Amino acid sequence: MTIKENLQNIKNTLPENVTLVAVSKTKPIEDLCEAYEGEQRIFGENRVQEMCDKYEKLPKDIQWHMIGHLQRNKVKYIAHFVELIHGVDSLKLLQEINKQAQKHNRIIKCLLQIKIAEEKSKFGLSKEEATNILNSETFKGMKNILIQGVMGMATFTEDLNQIQHEFKKLKTVFEELNQRSPTTNQQLTILSMGMSNDYTIAIEEGSTMIRVGSAVFGARS
Ligand SMILES: *Cc1c(COP(=O)(O)O)cnc(C)c1O
Repeated sequence: MTIKENLQNIKNTLPENVTLVAVSKTKPIEDLCEAYEGEQRIFGENRVQEMCDKYEKLPKDIQWHMIGHLQRNKVKYIAHFVELIHGVDSLKLLQEINKQAQKHNRIIKCLLQIKIAEEKSKFGLSKEEATNILNSETFKGMKNILIQGVMGMATFTEDLNQIQHEFKKLKTVFEELNQRSPTTNQQLTILSMGMSNDYTIAIEEGSTMIRVGSAVFGARS
């Protein structure tokens, strides 16, 4: 199947309120062009350098989502164009994003990454840590940030019950954080969960944004 066909097949199954981020990491420009011709406009990358290279080469109506772990010293390279940063896991990182966004006179949208998986390797905040960030005076003073929701990754496992359980956990965190009243820099509407292997479960559990790579572009080497 072609990339366009893969995209179409996935889109045909998506409820209207679910956004598809096509995760193009490691894939060549030609593959992204094909997805673009198939009307895809949102791409996800996990490396700063790679995302910058692709941004330079591709049409400017593409929205670039940073889905990987972002180092503070690299925020400056993407601050002028990044559409949404999924993996925010500290107040210090937010401070840097706010500072760089200010330089470019923009507001950068972010999601807080919440740790839901068992694996030690997965980054993310606990619900308490996320709450503390949103409650902090430092955050409240950030004028160039908009927190739009939360992101999480389930454990890499065959156990569908466990995946479902972890997505339910993320949905609960999302709802609890949402009990706070929205402010100018926090309006939580995005629940980013679901990848190639588990996005159907994620959608059943209330995902509003799925990040799908291999099911669109084929396996990565
Ligand atoms: C690579 C990646 C994806 C997509 O993974 P697939 O299994 O190829 O769909 C989604 N989210 C994050 C954070 C990733 O790093």
